[in-house]
Amino acid sequence: MAELKDVKGIGPKSLFLLEKMGITTIDDLVMHYPFRYELLKRGNLEETKDGEQIIIDGKVESMPILMRFKSNLNKMNFRLLTQNGGVGISIFNRAFLKSHLTVGTTITVIGKLDKKKNIITASDIKFEGLTSKVKIEPVYHLTNGITNKNIHNYINMAMLMFSKEIFDYIPEYIQKEYNFPNKKTSLNIIHNPSTADKLKQVTKRLKYEELFAFMFKINYLKNERKKNNKGIRKEVDREELNKLIKKIPFELTNDQNKAVDDILKDLEKDYRMNRLLQGDVGSGKTIVSFIAMYANYLAGFQSALMAPTEILATQHYNNLRELLKETDINVELLIGSTPKKEKERIHKELEEGTINMVIGTHALIQEEVNYNNLGLVITDEQHRFGVNQRENLKNKGITPDILYMSATPIPRTYALTLYGDMDMSIIKEKPKGRKKIKTYVKSNDEIKDVLQMMYDELESNHQIYVIAPLIEEGEGKTDLQSVMNLKDQMMLAFGKKYKIDIIHGKMAGGAKELIMQEFLQNNIQILISTTVIEVGVDVKNATTMVIFDANRFGLSTLHQLRGRVGRGEDESKCILISKVDTKRLEIMEQTEDGFVISEEDLKLRGHGDLFGTKQSGDMEFKIANLKEDYKILLKARDDSKEYLENKDYDKDEIKKKLIKGIIGS
Ligand code: ADP
Ligand code: MG
Repeated sequence: MAELKDVKGIGPKSLFLLEKMGITTIDDLVMHYPFRYELLKRGNLEETKDGEQIIIDGKVESMPILMRFKSNLNKMNFRLLTQNGGVGISIFNRAFLKSHLTVGTTITVIGKLDKKKNIITASDIKFEGLTSKVKIEPVYHLTNGITNKNIHNYINMAMLMFSKEIFDYIPEYIQKEYNFPNKKTSLNIIHNPSTADKLKQVTKRLKYEELFAFMFKINYLKNERKKNNKGIRKEVDREELNKLIKKIPFELTNDQNKAVDDILKDLEKDYRMNRLLQGDVGSGKTIVSFIAMYANYLAGFQSALMAPTEILATQHYNNLRELLKETDINVELLIGSTPKKEKERIHKELEEGTINMVIGTHALIQEEVNYNNLGLVITDEQHRFGVNQRENLKNKGITPDILYMSATPIPRTYALTLYGDMDMSIIKEKPKGRKKIKTYVKSNDEIKDVLQMMYDELESNHQIYVIAPLIEEGEGKTDLQSVMNLKDQMMLAFGKKYKIDIIHGKMAGGAKELIMQEFLQNNIQILISTTVIEVGVDVKNATTMVIFDANRFGLSTLHQLRGRVGRGEDESKCILISKVDTKRLEIMEQTEDGFVISEEDLKLRGHGDLFGTKQSGDMEFKIANLKEDYKILLKARDDSKEYLENKDYDKDEIKKKLIKGIIGS
């Protein structure tokens, strides 16, 4: 297999920079698609506006003057005579073109026009003259140190040198059926389009390929599940269960009751439950899962609940302990930071069956964890886990019932496509007595008002979350707020009277947990954090959230973050501070409906945030867009199913490779 470093032109420095962009293989490189195109039309000096891109023909009118700067930089200036008069051309780092630019030569210049100075800063010069009237320029995501031109050259070079190694995932008969161009041609066109029509055609084809591979995986897992969908018929002592439900300090909403009912029915069938419990942030999914665990316990089985973060796992653990405190049920917490000895004890007791319920993180699916009679597996915030991870936990039991929980409002049609045979329970109704979360969008010069609002909240004995995009200043962009910097500022403003602390992803699990406990007990009044706080954390007395550089986050992320407040009976506030882009944020002032917000997000940002904020790599697409490409998705779903299930294709290289990608080698 050829490697990135084998591509001509890629040296150690570019290799490092590419890696920073997540490009580590030739496949990654050639599938680093342009995120947009610039349509460049032949222009003339009169019609082109100041600062605009221009492509213009002309004759070299003066000998280029070359200036060299240190570290290999150089700049060349000359005059170009065009149809509408002369213009100065300046171009960087093309000293090697000098000898070709003799006076009188006809060239085409591509660049940006500065009307006042009458200069074009050129990005490229072509000698043979462009054939068509328009040029479509691909525009790539970049990192500091790599130009658009660099990456474009690397991609073209890689395609030239290693086209044989680029794997095509669309089976030949399907290519024929849809009249798709082959992969090599498609890649070539997507990076070097000559016409919009061709571009459209190959874009569709590459999207199809991506969705085909994705749906193949979904279908494969679905089939595996079906092969093994006989579950255990459980007998739940409803009377005992109701006793526990009566002890809950609030009344369940109708939707919660309905969800509990759905789950109980599933447990009592000899079919294996495979259910998604969906409900917006704060809708009260956790208690439903606890009731399910208790029912499963009453039927005589162990339960496991997996959460995406240690903070969340610990919180669930504490809440479940509280709910079950008058019983002799043995509940344990198993997370990465659990001490080794403790872990070993828990492993042993899970295997012996003396632990009835276990709550944890990924630690629950480590190989050395075995269960005695695992009957129910629940994953919270399920979109945060990869498909394979979820499968792993499932396979720990013989045929445990499965419950997934998600706050991400996935439209039902998508859910059906992506999860297929999964049943759904939806909690729409918010618990009674919830007040609206008042949301304010503020600009940076309104900080004084914000501090006043914070002060008022603190004086009424409430607690505050403060969120920043960075941990420390200088991580890349320096103009963004950081946790460390805000800590200093908050200390100055409130430090005399109130306790302030921080939490972020780089802290050890145990330290994070300690801080959360302190915050929960109101020993900390202002908690400054990155988005680690994002999922699930529940502190009722925290009524205010202040988010700095809010424009840096997707709307769905903001919605999830905001869901941390408004959990108790007191009125809550969310303040979004932003230097720019405040218009986009206004939707947050208008609605608290996660569904509406995610739709809006989708409209504004395209794909990416549909399945929540930090979804697993499974659902990140390079080119497809689940919303826009729904029709292609449906085709890919049916075609991949047919391909998967037709034994004639079992020896196919593509099929083998796809399956290997799912189950690992
Ligand atoms: P999510 O669905 O986001 O996981 P949680 O389960 O964390 O939401 O619930 C949010 C808060 O609402 C918790 O403090 C929980 O105790 C509380 N809660 C849940 N159901 C009800 C209810 N029916 N009435 C009042 N409070 C409830
Ligand atoms: Mg939750």
